[in-house]
Amino acid sequence: MRVVFGAGVVKSLPNEIAHLGFERALVLCSPEQEETGRAVAATLGERTAGVLAEARMHVPMEVADRARDRAGELGADCCVAVGGGSAIGLGKAVALAHGLPVVAVPTTYAGSEMTPVWGLTEGGRKRTGRDPRVLPVSVLYDPELTLTLPVGMSVTSGMNAVAHAVEALYAPDATPIVSLMAEEGVRALAGALPDLVRTPDDIEARGRAQYGAWLCGACLGATTMSLHHKLCHSLGGTLNLPHAPTHTVVLPHALAYNQSGARHAVAALSRALGAAPDPARRLWDLAGELGAPRSLRELGMAETDIARIVDEVLANPYANPVGVTADGLTRLLRAAWAGEPPT
Ligand code: NAD
Repeated sequence: MRVVFGAGVVKSLPNEIAHLGFERALVLCSPEQEETGRAVAATLGERTAGVLAEARMHVPMEVADRARDRAGELGADCCVAVGGGSAIGLGKAVALAHGLPVVAVPTTYAGSEMTPVWGLTEGGRKRTGRDPRVLPVSVLYDPELTLTLPVGMSVTSGMNAVAHAVEALYAPDATPIVSLMAEEGVRALAGALPDLVRTPDDIEARGRAQYGAWLCGACLGATTMSLHHKLCHSLGGTLNLPHAPTHTVVLPHALAYNQSGARHAVAALSRALGAAPDPARRLWDLAGELGAPRSLRELGMAETDIARIVDEVLANPYANPVGVTADGLTRLLRAAWAGEPPT
């Protein structure tokens, strides 16, 4: 994978596309970012096949089908996905179907651009899988494109990235180098997010946040995620809770649940979070300081849904540093639902 990083690098997209030998790029973005998508497409001149501004959260199958058809009709030889995980996810869906390479221009901190993981939603169920064909061939990280990301979304998106690093640190397939990247990713984001909240147009802080997102996204791509990601997948898929805010609320609780079985992860997180003796509590405090949501209730979850999520999460066992029990999960979700500190 090629990576181009720095303020203003989106201007080098035409060179990048030419260097990769592509001639007809289909630009994908969400309807809210159509203007940005069209501006990026305009820079490509004759190498633009068209713009499809239909990306939506969790890649609904009908949108993926339309994007595949458009790519075929227009004779596209690559997709340029401009946006967050939803636009990049749509590019991955086209890559999965047609083998068209994806060039990613991320505008959030979600990290999808660094992973071979795809997701598709049909009939209310989200399927995910890994396929090397969906890993973008090139990523252009331009912090200038994140200046329009509202502060609230910047914070929750940054915490979403931190969650990838946290789980990479206690993953069953953790490795020393990926752990270094995870620790540095958490350090970068924990430092950049308060600066962003104070000064949203601080391009240097935006760059540090994107550097953290790159590190954390790479950790997500390199390791197997555990309880935290399973919980968020279930809360998002079953209850349609918003992706990044859900990660933000659940992370301190999932980490608190796992800390007793993840000594090395706790030590790394403690270092990354300014010698925090209890990283889970520090992340919960940080979310509060940054004005982020801290309860699932405020994201629209009903307390009566807790049992349903517990059943769903227990139905598919997976690796986790601490055994997952119905009682433990219920306690975790009740605290996260009510906005209580993690225990
Ligand atoms: P998103 O892509 O859904 O974006 C949220 C909203 O913010 C959209 O309306 C978008 O247009 C807008 N937006 C994005 N960047 C903006 C900017 N710079 N300025 C103004 N508005 C902007 O949100 P997300 O959190 O980046 O992605 C979530 C999706 O990505 C979920 O479906 C999640 O499952 C998926 N995801 C996948 C992976 C993976 O590895 N496959 C990793 C992380 C997330």
